[in-house]
Amino acid sequence: MKITRRLIDITGMRDIIQRRIPVLTLDSKIPGPTVWLTACLHGDEVGGTVIVHEVFQRLKQAGLLNGVIHALPLINSMGFENISRFVNTDREDLNRCFPGNASGSMGERIAGRLFDTITRTGPDLVIDLHNDWIHSVPYILIEPDVHYSSKKIRQRTFSIARAAGLLLVEDSDAYHALSNTLTGAIVETGVPAFTIEAGGSYGIVEQSVAAGRDAVLATLRKLGMTDLPDQRSTRSPNRELLTYSNRPLCATSGLVRFAVAPGENVKANQVLARVYSAFGSCEETLRARGPGYVLGLADHARVLPGCEVIAIAELSA
Ligand SMILES: [Zn+2]
Repeated sequence: MKITRRLIDITGMRDIIQRRIPVLTLDSKIPGPTVWLTACLHGDEVGGTVIVHEVFQRLKQAGLLNGVIHALPLINSMGFENISRFVNTDREDLNRCFPGNASGSMGERIAGRLFDTITRTGPDLVIDLHNDWIHSVPYILIEPDVHYSSKKIRQRTFSIARAAGLLLVEDSDAYHALSNTLTGAIVETGVPAFTIEAGGSYGIVEQSVAAGRDAVLATLRKLGMTDLPDQRSTRSPNRELLTYSNRPLCATSGLVRFAVAPGENVKANQVLARVYSAFGSCEETLRARGPGYVLGLADHARVLPGCEVIAIAELSA
């Protein structure tokens, strides 16, 4: 099966910052679902790019039973070059610019072109691949209730995401604004979409790439697009939907030392971390506010009041 490669213009500019980004397509030529994989929307989150490469390589060899898969493997080329999350012309977070605006900021213009490119193909599913803190485990982020166009779309999204076999975590507007994300804008149009947070940013974490690749392939198996055997070595034991939390935040400044690791279950009140002053005295002890599962730990030891240092998937009360 042949992979089609093309380049699309994303900035609409000429001469100074002409930018084109790669699009990969695998078309079975048999009627079926249209699926999009998107990666490196945040320029320092490179693991998703490699997940796209591996998914396409597997499907190129095994063939696609039906439908078509498109991928944008490296969206934020400006951020990628500068090892930065942002669109570097003005430090915009591209994943807060959707569905975009043709006469808006650079980020909004790029988002608009990406959004149009995806939606005009009549997609059945969009999976956006991201990477989290360096010390983190792979998980799926689901949009909170308010973003879906209907209950039916929410249920369909959940049932497809559950097939991926990773920990399922509902994002929350309580900690960071979720409006204007790619997956948020897509589910608002009535199309299932979710995010895979496939381990750490900056470098390629092979174990996380394998987990992300196998999760995508499991999703495609669920849609009947491939019969590649399930080779997942790890599957989340937790079948219920958990809730994302970045609490507790630090209240002091100093150096944070963790008492837990990503992937660990925690109980209510369990010590998560301690903050030490430059003299070595313990200034603060951070404790779990309820039972949950550690998703990731901050990249930097330096903390200030209000710093988020841990991501936890909390069990529903
Ligand atoms: Zn990201």
